[in-house]
Amino acid sequence: MAEYRIVCTLQSPTCNPLESAHIVNVGTGDQQGYSRLWTVSEVYVSMDLGNKFYTISPSSGKRANVYKYQCNKCGKPTLRSASDNKWDNNLDSLPVCQR
Ligand SMILES: [Zn+2]
Repeated sequence: MAEYRIVCTLQSPTCNPLESAHIVNVGTGDQQGYSRLWTVSEVYVSMDLGNKFYTISPSSGKRANVYKYQCNKCGKPTLRSASDNKWDNNLDSLPVCQR
C-alpha cells in the first residue's frame, strides 16, 4: 500500500457551463513539484487497490484525505478532499500542474 500526496490538478469544464470545473487529472509528488500525472480513473483504480491520496493545506499545513466523488449534478466521477469528516476545497486551491 502506498500514499500519494496530490500537489497540483488539471480541471476541465464538462457537462454544465454554469458549474465549476471538474478535476480530470492530478499530479502527485512533493513540494518540488509533481512526479506523476494521473487521470481520475487511474486514481480510482489505485484507491481500489488500497492506496491512499491526500493533500496538505498550504495555509494550515493540515492533511486532508482525498476520496472518490461523483458530481451530484452530472454524475461525472471526480475527486474531493475532506478533513475532520468535512469536505474542504483543498484540491481546488492547489496549483495547476505545469506540463
Ligand atoms: Zn458535473
